[in-house]
Amino acid sequence: MPADLHPDDLARLVRYALETTRATAVCPFHEDVIVRIGDDAAESHALERAKRIPKSDGSTWDGQTLNDEIGRQLGAAADGCCPKCQAAAQGTGA
Ligand SMILES: [Zn+2]
Repeated sequence: MPADLHPDDLARLVRYALETTRATAVCPFHEDVIVRIGDDAAESHALERAKRIPKSDGSTWDGQTLNDEIGRQLGAAADGCCPKCQAAAQGTGA
């Protein structure tokens, strides 16, 4: 199990699933910026992956709970490209 995976922490588990299925990625220049890069297939793959990751007590997260959290994280993510990089490229500051 990867060191950055915390299966009892819903937000971190979902973030891990989204990143490992390439539904989202952290900007290489801004580690606080998560960018939505995947398509619907990647996002549903992330849900399936998250459903299979057991918590420390051996149970798994409820699919609806995971789906809600995935939706929340995708909603919070930047769409397609990092807004900070875009601003820097346009010379409006980083
Ligand atoms: Zn960036």
